Amino acid sequence: MNDLEDQLLAAAAAMATGERIVAVTGAGISAESGVPTFRDAQTGLWSSFNPQELATPDAFERNPRLVWDWYAMRAARVGEVQPNPGHLALHDLETLFPSVIIATQNVDGLHQRAGSSKVITLHGDITRYQCFADCQGRLTPIDLTSLPSWDTAAGPPRCPHCGAYVRPAVVWFGEMLPPGALDAAETACRMADTILVIGTSGEVYPAAALPFINPHAKRIEVNLAETSISRRMHYRLRSSAGAVLPKLVDAVQRLRNP
Ligand SMILES: [Zn+2]
Repeated sequence: MNDLEDQLLAAAAAMATGERIVAVTGAGISAESGVPTFRDAQTGLWSSFNPQELATPDAFERNPRLVWDWYAMRAARVGEVQPNPGHLALHDLETLFPSVIIATQNVDGLHQRAGSSKVITLHGDITRYQCFADCQGRLTPIDLTSLPSWDTAAGPPRCPHCGAYVRPAVVWFGEMLPPGALDAAETACRMADTILVIGTSGEVYPAAALPFINPHAKRIEVNLAETSISRRMHYRLRSSAGAVLPKLVDAVQRLRNP
């Protein structure tokens, strides 16, 4: 047996004895579906901008149309891709465990599209929108499809409550995480028997701290590469999420429903 199979079977055995699973996911699992990272999406005319010009509240105030168009382009790309077997395997876990919670740094909504029912979006959701002025309280969601048509060449639409611009419901540089998101993720991790850490470099805080706030949880890393947090994992699966998560779920299923 090779090292990956050893690790997979050991991880499945550790997982199978628990009841509460948390998956902390990052860009790696989305990349397998073809979602480009922020940097990788900066092709063509977008390559000349630095992130501070595209993804901060100041940037939106200075040039709302530029920022709106950047997110509209990326939301359109997300609409063209599909959840991959890694996303689907995480959804399948819900048939095996009473509690499966996903805390994701990804903004593409692919976990939700895969059917996962409890997804905490730590960095927001590129397919959703809110009032830039938070006029009905933080956050004020806006359903774009409910708005009258607007001149897209003139920039973002206006909030139907207050007339401020509508913005994408993502967390920009320097912004706080969505209200309650970090609390919910921390609580889930504290109660977890197993924490899967999937496709994340472990370098973006506060999400990077989540796997370690519960010293009793078994930690399983799924990543193609060694990361800065690999050595703090109980099990390390050096593979893509799409390749290894379905096998892990199969192995757990055989142990829980022999
Ligand atoms: Zn408003």
